[in-house]
Amino acid sequence: MEKFLKDYQEFVKSIAKKFDDPEKELMTWGLGISGEAGDVAGCIKKTISHKDGQLPGIKENLGDTLWYIVAICNFYNWNLEDVIKENTDKLNKRYSEGVFTEKAACKRERIDWNENKK
Ligand SMILES: [Mg+2]
Repeated sequence: MEKFLKDYQEFVKSIAKKFDDPEKELMTWGLGISGEAGDVAGCIKKTISHKDGQLPGIKENLGDTLWYIVAICNFYNWNLEDVIKENTDKLNKRYSEGVFTEKAACKRERIDWNENKK
């Protein structure tokens, strides 16, 4: 799996647009995530509310969202596997006995990243 993720990161890097302005690059990848996640939401809405099955669209746009996530990892030279591991460790710590338990609710420590200047 580690090799697959590394290869995918390299693939994203190889086809990503090259920017002269790093702020423009980061903005493009960040807004790209939002746009593709919105497409996922739109497909889910059509599937549920309009009874218009959009499962292939949900799947495709999840992949597109991932592409932008990986583009940001590449921007910061982060290893995608490390990002996944960090998230897994956080969730394992928080939900070691399941998500919908009283203990999990007590352990929940939400960081407001808009306020946090880490
Ligand atoms: Mg898309």
